[in-house]
This record gives sequence, structure tokens and C-alpha cells, in this order.
Amino acid sequence: MSTTRTPAETDTADGVSTFTVTSPATGEELGSYPLHSTDEVAGAVAVARRATQAWVAIGFAGRRAALDAWRAEIVRGRAELAELIHVETGKPVSDARLEITLGLEHLKWAARNAQKILGRRSVAPSVLTFNNAATVEYFPLGVVGVISPWNYPAYVPLISSASIFAGGNAIVLKPSELAPATGIWLAEAFRRAVPAHPVLQVVTGLGATGAALCRGGVDKIAFTGSTATGKLVMASCAENLVPVVMECGGKDALVVDADADLDAAADAAVWGAIANAGQTCVAVERAYVHEAVYDQFVTKVTELATTVDAGRPDSKIGPITLPKQVVIIREQIEDALARGGRALVGGIDGITGNYVQPTILVDVPEESSAVTEETFGPTLTIAKVRDADEAVQRVNASRYGLGSTVFSRRNGRGIADRIRSGATSVNGVLVHPLVPSLPLGGVGASGFGRVNGPDGLREFTYAKSTTEQRFPLPLRIASFSRSARVDKLVDLATALLHGRRRK
Ligand code: NAD
Repeated sequence: MSTTRTPAETDTADGVSTFTVTSPATGEELGSYPLHSTDEVAGAVAVARRATQAWVAIGFAGRRAALDAWRAEIVRGRAELAELIHVETGKPVSDARLEITLGLEHLKWAARNAQKILGRRSVAPSVLTFNNAATVEYFPLGVVGVISPWNYPAYVPLISSASIFAGGNAIVLKPSELAPATGIWLAEAFRRAVPAHPVLQVVTGLGATGAALCRGGVDKIAFTGSTATGKLVMASCAENLVPVVMECGGKDALVVDADADLDAAADAAVWGAIANAGQTCVAVERAYVHEAVYDQFVTKVTELATTVDAGRPDSKIGPITLPKQVVIIREQIEDALARGGRALVGGIDGITGNYVQPTILVDVPEESSAVTEETFGPTLTIAKVRDADEAVQRVNASRYGLGSTVFSRRNGRGIADRIRSGATSVNGVLVHPLVPSLPLGGVGASGFGRVNGPDGLREFTYAKSTTEQRFPLPLRIASFSRSARVDKLVDLATALLHGRRRK
């Protein structure tokens, strides 16, 4: 069993620096990968940049065909890819397969909708510019650096790529140092499917390689990872005014109102909190439950949570991928218990090596780290609230605001609208990241900017506005030849257009 997964750095005989990846489940060595240097990263950006011209030239239709070919290639190799994700992260193969499917949905949507969202469209000119045709369209930024995490090593690069590629950009991907083979596999599949366009380059390494990518001449960084690393990424990008998308951590909450379907809510809470061993950015980590149904809900959650375990070959959840996270999970549970909380399922005794058993905590004070900080483990705190107002107030007290879930038969939408988070799923859990036409992203410490949906496509472009005069006006406004008569007419127009108050 490995106790640390901080990849070991090695200087090999030929002078190439490498790092070694180990299995989170068994500790066995999985492979060694280059620690790409600043120069090598800059070289990858240069290759990607050279490829952009032809990538832009093939237009939306050409890129749609290319992305469809990539999708088909991934589908062909999906069993191999799922196995790779399973080996690198420790998650069950079935979860790895699901991750691939969900990523492909986004790829398909972006390829099909990019032209409609980013292509040229006419807009109405104003009264003063009525002699012009006006259009807006969205042009690619160039080369985007994608820095991705290990918890969804295929889904995150796929959804980022969908938004970035469809708009006509090239990518340099820096996969997580815990799951580099998954990122390399995706890039090799792209190379096989789209050999004429080397627009997906991969660099491997630790944080230093990621920092080199921020400084390597890219036009934007799409970062997905922890809030703490996000700040470092922003600092590196600030040196050259490189814009960033920050898809960071969360502390998502689930609200259960008095009229909720309790069986559905309990099932959603357990799956949302425990799937992938809680290592999901939009995992449910806190539940706020109306006092009228609190006891019933806790009983149902407790029963369900005891049916899931970690550590056996056919367990529904795997190990904690990053061993130092086990320390954080342990500290949060200890802190919660020391402050008067109770573990109804799991707890400290449920932690063995890299495996953490599902843990359901109640009576945990709101200032505990188990309630305020991202846990990234299979834990859930459940708190009793007077009503939905108190639930909303407690949900919104967090510095994070990524996703959220509400269960209520009559008031779900009303409660959802008052929650400060990038998304809310009502009467279902983690539904919003599965809808390709919806943007994904957060507020506050969860980051800013969006991938997916129309907003995701626009995120990696710049808006280009163009006017074209259709016929000249006898009266010139934007000219030093403007006469006093024109000034008077403009003044009259100002009074007519803006001077009347509507009652
Ligand atoms: P992490 O922040 O440790 O690493 C993310 C990536 O950043 C890795 O590729 C890493 O090598 C790179 N990196 C590290 N230091 C860097 C630096 N100084 N400059 C540039 N790059 C650097 O995150 P992780 O542990 O891989 O992933 C877990 C985190 O990701 C959790 O907080 C989770 O909530 C978050 N996450 C968010 C979303 C989302 O959509 N908001 C999705 C998945 C994961």
C-alpha cells in the first residue's frame, strides 16, 4: 500500500528528468513520464500555434468532422481507456466508463452547436447608425493551456477540449501528475483520428510544468483543480496578462424541504456524497434538512450508506487517490467529533490505509472544517434546520459556490433560485454537469468562467464586432466636418430618444 503518491522525481542516465506514477490501490509502479521543462513546454505551445491556422481554415464544419472522428476513436478504445482511468485513479471501471460517456456527450454537443453560437450574426444598428449593417462573431483566441486534475482525468480534458476546439483553438494539455497516461491516451486517439491537425499537444510533469505552461505563450489557461492551486495559476498568468478560467473546488450542499420525496432525496444524498469516494468537485458534502423530516431522512441515509463500502474488489467505491487527502479527511472527521458531532456510519475507524468507508456525520457545528472546507472524501454532514430559509442561509454562508441540490415537491425552483452557486439540480443530484447545453462553473472560491454550453464556447473566443456602411449619410457625425446643424440635430435626437420619462 502506498503511503504517498507525490510522484517521485528521477534524473535518468540520459539526463531526462522523469516522475513515476503508482497505483493508489496497490502502490505498484505504473510508469514513468517526462518532467517537461520550460523550453519543452514552449516548444509544445509553438507546435500547437503552427497548427491553428489550418484548424481555423477548415471552419466549423471541418472541425465538427474532426471532433466526430476523435469521438469515434475514443468509443473504439473505450474499454482500454476505462481500464487506464481505473488503474490510475482507483475508481471502479464502471465509473470510468460513465466518465467517458459523459465527456463524449459534451464533445458532440459543442461540435454541433459551435457555428450557431459563435458564427456571424446580424444585429440591429442604432438610430444614429441606421445606415450600417452590424454583425458580431466569435473568433478563437489561439492556443489554450488546459491544466487538469486527476479525479476525472478523461471527463475534464474532454469537456474543456469540446469548448476550446469547437471554437477553433489549439490545446496544450497538462494532465495531472497522478493520471498522465489518461491524458496521453486521449491525445494519441486524437492524433490517430485527426492526423492532419496536430492541435492537441500534451506536456507532463508536476506543478512546475503547469506553471511553465502558464508562462509558455498561451492565449488562455483553462484550469481545473483546487482553489489553492488556482491562486498560484492566476499569479503565474498575471505576469503576462494571460486570461484564465478557474474551475476550482466546492462544498456543495443538498437541501431537503418538508415536502420532499425522502426516498429519492436520501438516495441522491448517499450517491452524491459517496460516489467516486467523494472525490468529485460537485460532490454533496453537506445536507440541510427540514426539522419535520430530519429523523426520517437520517434513518434512510444511514441505511443506504451502510450498503456501500470501499476496499473489496467489487466495492462500489475505490481508494482515496491522493494519500495526503486521507490526512485531511481524518482531520475533518476528528474535528467534527471533538466539537460534539456523531458518526452514524463510518468515522475514524473506517479509515484504513488509502481506503475511507462512507461516513455520515450529524450534530456537527457549522464552524467545523467538515462543514466549511472541501473534504474530497466519502463523507456527509447532515444538519437540522427550521425551514428552507435557514437552509438557504446556511448553504450560502460557504465561501464556495460550485453546485447544489434541492429536494422539494412544491418549492424546489424557488429554493434553487436563492442559492448562490453556479448550478442547482432540483429533485435529482449532479444532473446539471450532464446537460451539455448548460454552462459549468462556480462563484466565489469555486472559481469563475465557464466550460460547456454556449458560455463555454464563448469563453475561449473573443467577440468581434463589425459595421459596414450600406449608404452614406448627407450629415456627417464622426467627422471634423460636422456642422452646427448636425450638432443641433443630434441634440434634438438626444432629447427625443432619451429625454422622455415613461410613466
Ligand atoms: P490540484 O490543484 O492539486 O492540481 C490540479 C492541476 O494543477 C494538476 O495538473 C497540477 O499538476 C497542476 N498544478 C499544481 N501546481 C501548479 C502550479 N503552481 N501552476 C500550474 N499548475 C499547477 O488539484 P487535484 O488534486 O488534481 O484535483 C482536485 C481538485 O480539483 C479539487 O479541489 C476539486 O474540487 C477540483 N475540481 C474542480 C472541478 C470543477 O469543475 N470545478 C472539476 C474537477 C476537480
